[in-house]
Amino acid sequence: MKVDYIVVGTGIAGISFCEQLKANNKSFVVFDNASQQSSTVAGGLYNPVVLKRFTSVWKSDEQLDLALPLYAKIESELNVKLDYKIPVYRKFASLEEQNDWFSASDKPLLSKWLSAKIIKNDNAAIDAPFGFGEVLETGRIDVKTMIEAYKSDLNSKNLLFEDAFEYDLIEETNNGIQYKNISAAQVVFAEGYGIKQNPFFKHLPLVPAKGELLIIHTPELQIDFVLKAGVFLIPLGDDTYIVGATYEWKDLTNNVSIKAKDELAAKLTKLISCPYKIVNQVAGIRPTVKDRRPLVGQHDKHKNLFVLNGLGTRGVMIGPYVAKQLYDFIENNKPLEKAIDIKRFEH
Ligand SMILES: Cc1cc2nc3c(=O)[nH]c(=O)nc-3n(C[C@H](O)[C@H](O)[C@H](O)COP(=O)(O)OP(=O)(O)OC[C@H]3O[C@@H](n4cnc5c(N)ncnc54)[C@H](O)[C@@H]3O)c2cc1C
Repeated sequence: MKVDYIVVGTGIAGISFCEQLKANNKSFVVFDNASQQSSTVAGGLYNPVVLKRFTSVWKSDEQLDLALPLYAKIESELNVKLDYKIPVYRKFASLEEQNDWFSASDKPLLSKWLSAKIIKNDNAAIDAPFGFGEVLETGRIDVKTMIEAYKSDLNSKNLLFEDAFEYDLIEETNNGIQYKNISAAQVVFAEGYGIKQNPFFKHLPLVPAKGELLIIHTPELQIDFVLKAGVFLIPLGDDTYIVGATYEWKDLTNNVSIKAKDELAAKLTKLISCPYKIVNQVAGIRPTVKDRRPLVGQHDKHKNLFVLNGLGTRGVMIGPYVAKQLYDFIENNKPLEKAIDIKRFEH
């Protein structure tokens, strides 16, 4: 079998890269061993504003301009609903925070995303005496549905190997790479935290951050916006909500923990007064990076091996953006942005 690319990983990064390949008529096969589940469990929010500090996310315009059309394309190709437009309400903790919001909403970069109107709370189940600020142009991508549909489509075309990619079986040839019976011009590794097993890229400073979420059922809450107040509350429909997320740097398994459940339940109890039932709990490892920028680029010796990683806490927005940069770098000789190029860690 002869292909242009082998892609390792069917998370947000791998799928974003496959979409570049499809758009440019490149042939490819994909490997995924289901060892990581950051993308599968992700809340899926896209939100151009950092709600802790009321600043704009790095390259948010550029990222949204690429990400939303890409998800729309997958929706129509695979006949699934992925993009749920929904506003994000930031709960104010004080009058001072309201004022900070007002001044932020006046700034040129932020005015299109921060509504200057303070929304009063009229929901008896929520404790929010200072009201909310609304972020515009936000939404949720149903990443789990996307991955399931994408894998099933790849499977139907015999393009998916649900196996571990075995690094020591790579042979370098004059035309690229030989891996088992597959000849490929290039290999793109989009393995999330799995990068730590990859002898070619494990030296990169990825700092894994485990995150857990609760799925709750609460008929009395009745909100149709994402609520950010310490935790996120994301409506999924049918009185079901995602509550999250936690950050943990020591336990790096995909197992759910009582500690995370208790932490999220405690935050939730402070925020809402209606009864709720926990119906599920999930965990995954976010591939975050020391300097909070993605890890993209070419191996310095093995020139046919590339990495697409470090999507951190905002994979939904950043994945399509960095996938395009990597594609243009490999195929069109366009230099990578310095901020994302792995060369920044070479001395
Ligand atoms: C609890 C939680 C909530 C989150 N919420 C949000 C959110 O609301 N919005 C947002 O934008 N981001 C969110 N994120 C972050 C987002 O999930 C990540 O940025 C994103 O999932 C990273 O995608 P990835 O494709 O790089 O990695 P992954 O999703 O980890 O995918 C890597 C894939 O590679 C495969 N793989 C690895 N090694 C091998 C190998 N050797 N052989 C074969 N396959 C291999 C793995 O099985 C996996 O499928 C959240 C993360 C967590 C954990």
